[in-house]
Amino acid sequence: MQLIAEFALFWTIAYVAGVTIMFVVGLVILQINKRHPERKIQKREPTHSARKDILSSLRQIAVTATCLSVGLFAQWKGWTIAPVELSWWSFPVFFAISVVLHDAWFYFGHRLLHTKALYRFHKPHHMTITPTVWSNDAGSSVDTLFAHSYYALVLFVIPIPALSLIAHRLFDQISAIIGHSGYEYFANSTSRAPWPMICTTYHDQHHSEFVYNYANYFSWWDRICGTIHPHYDHIIKGWEENDARPHMPKAKEPISS
Ligand SMILES: [Zn+2]
Ligand SMILES: [Zn+2]
Repeated sequence: MQLIAEFALFWTIAYVAGVTIMFVVGLVILQINKRHPERKIQKREPTHSARKDILSSLRQIAVTATCLSVGLFAQWKGWTIAPVELSWWSFPVFFAISVVLHDAWFYFGHRLLHTKALYRFHKPHHMTITPTVWSNDAGSSVDTLFAHSYYALVLFVIPIPALSLIAHRLFDQISAIIGHSGYEYFANSTSRAPWPMICTTYHDQHHSEFVYNYANYFSWWDRICGTIHPHYDHIIKGWEENDARPHMPKAKEPISS
């Protein structure tokens, strides 16, 4: 009985944190987007309901919270392999290891979800062709389990300190909300070849064109496996050139002589 109560506490913290982050980050980004219509990636407007996405997300965040709390609870109980002691070096090193591992987990799981046999589980997420900040978690529970069962399992094989895994999940959720926001603020020379970093356009292209850009944090798996969007690097260069160009002053701004 005590075991259940302890686990329920882990789960509740993970769920409340996930929902709070979704709303806070989502609302902040929406405000920024309103002020920058020129950063919109797709010309078309989102056609699906934000309410539907939010309701679906509230269910899927419960699945994610279960995955994360299973992993952390098992480690806290000593049922996993012992984590490396938390220190100034172990925190960032295991954070980085976890991000790189999860990127591979996500890429290959995502490729499986695009096969004929499994696509029906992933289809609800792809009903969104023009994603918004509320689209990130919206989808089916099988889809969420493919992406986030990593958090339940990884601590059994890799000695990641709990805080590094929590920081990774925080990074995962916030970067994915930004990745679905539909507005580009992070296009620069490091988010295209030869660098492996990505920006918002990356996952946006996955929603608008379906068969490219399956990865989550880095472009290397898509580049190695030949699934990167053929114009991705070129489009990012376009954003950079546009940002480097001196912009005409707006009508209300005084023109300095
Ligand atoms: Zn997909
Ligand atoms: Zn998506």
